[in-house]
Amino acid sequence: MSSVGKNTSTFSEVFCIVCPLGCRIGVEQRSDDLILQGGCPRGQEYARQEVTSPCRVVTTTVRILGGEIPRLPVRTSAPFPKERIFELMEFLRALEVIAPVRRGEVLVENLLGTGVHLVATRTIRRLGKGEEGSAGA
Ligand code: SF4
Repeated sequence: MSSVGKNTSTFSEVFCIVCPLGCRIGVEQRSDDLILQGGCPRGQEYARQEVTSPCRVVTTTVRILGGEIPRLPVRTSAPFPKERIFELMEFLRALEVIAPVRRGEVLVENLLGTGVHLVATRTIRRLGKGEEGSAGA
């Protein structure tokens, strides 16, 4: 996003990533208003959020105990506030999940009070007696 200062407003451009067309949306920020130019309604909503409160879907892994692999792939159920992603990663670093887990299962509701949930993106079965999980980070 680039910015060019004007007297009482700032002009910037947001590259929309909502669909493969990748439109550029002009955003003029005035003291009490936001004027959007270009793109479709979905893209304009994305641009508005990107300028006022940027969010990202977070994908990562967390520790899983008793599973066939030691890390469980997870993602947030919706875009998460960008300025709180570091806090989220600290939370996830301390999280331990117990196998078995099914793909799509909600592991943590309302992450850090944001209303966004943590969802498993892979099914991990529980190891039986005598079975060993694969090593890894
Ligand atoms: S503005 Fe609309 S059409 Fe353009 S990339 Fe975004 S979602 Fe796609």
